[in-house]
Amino acid sequence: MNDPPERSNDAFETKAIHAGEEPDLGPGGTGDLVSPIHLSSTFAMDEAGDPSHGYKYSRLGNPTRAALERRVATLSDADHAMTFASGMAAISTTCLSVLDSGDHVVAFDGVYGGTKVFFDDYLAEHFDVSVEYVDATDADAVAAAVTPETTLFWMESPTNPLLKLCDIGAIAGIADRHDVLLAVDNTFATPYFQRPLSLGADVSVHSTTKYLNGHTDSIGGAVVTNDDALAERVRFVQEYALGATMPPFDCYLVLRGSKTLPLRMRQHEANAKRVAGYLSEHGNVTAVHYPGLDAHPQHELAARQMDGFGGVVSFEIAGGAAEARAFVESLDLFTLAVSLGSVESLIEHPASMSASYVPEEERLASGITDSLIRAPIGTENADDLIADLEQGLRHL
Ligand SMILES: *Cc1c(COP(=O)(O)O)cnc(C)c1O
Repeated sequence: MNDPPERSNDAFETKAIHAGEEPDLGPGGTGDLVSPIHLSSTFAMDEAGDPSHGYKYSRLGNPTRAALERRVATLSDADHAMTFASGMAAISTTCLSVLDSGDHVVAFDGVYGGTKVFFDDYLAEHFDVSVEYVDATDADAVAAAVTPETTLFWMESPTNPLLKLCDIGAIAGIADRHDVLLAVDNTFATPYFQRPLSLGADVSVHSTTKYLNGHTDSIGGAVVTNDDALAERVRFVQEYALGATMPPFDCYLVLRGSKTLPLRMRQHEANAKRVAGYLSEHGNVTAVHYPGLDAHPQHELAARQMDGFGGVVSFEIAGGAAEARAFVESLDLFTLAVSLGSVESLIEHPASMSASYVPEEERLASGITDSLIRAPIGTENADDLIADLEQGLRHL
């Protein structure tokens, strides 16, 4: 169990640098400003039983991981954080901690593709859990899908790659009325722009691979909650049953990356606003999806629910799949790659990359057209990014 959140009264920028990494100047402390990377798989005990330093075996607890978990909990205004070997490990461990066979899940139809694979090809297939996908941009659609077997709402906001939002507070109210647990994947917004627990969610998950680490050099995940019993259950399943803990070196990388989360998010957002504005005016662009645009259908909800609009922009260009592929391949500064949330700007064509495994009919029905392009905007200079897009669009 985590210690109480540290520095919880400080502003976000201060917590991002100091929470979880308070120098130890006590007896035996070394005063390190930066948390050491504790690689030991096991820990010497001063007596048979529970050692006084609290560590027995690295899967069950590791000092570097504990430092990161205090950081993530504090940034999320949460009492508890657990960190995982990947975002998918955080998601699957959470689900396997709270679901029983026969349960019913109501999920946003825009949830992350890996989450959908886990639900459909694993939970439904092997554990008799049924999952119903609804358009959660309408909270009433979530309420209408509830059955006596519903135990979990699985939401994400904004979604990937279409940047749709759901009203977390409204859905939390529905969850309370029906005694259903509300989980929110907060990867796109990050705790800097949105804190789902404060909006009423019971548990929130992250892929730390994305913005929390932010430097394209680590895979990881996190779960945060204020519910003591839920935290204990997730921690038990993680440490004793499934074992998908974040390795110490990755904990160090995320501790380091998270210090600049506020600075990076402000720059990602400023650049994304510039790029979204530029694309909106371009004759070869037929649609732009970015919650920060007045034209986004949920712009008002985004302004109310989030402290910033994030760094991912998606858009559709004139033409079809061939033109979209040629465009993403023609860019120079944007790297053609999946993933998001790092300092480098990336670009991808979902129909042939991140959503290529989705049957065409289903993909088109969900709004992922052949001409859709996703661009996670990095922290480079916005003029350089726009010049690169300009040369690509000119050649369409
Ligand atoms: C990437 C991502 C995940 C999965 O995280 P991994 O670290 O790749 O396992 C989950 N949810 C969202 C929204 C993501 O973008």
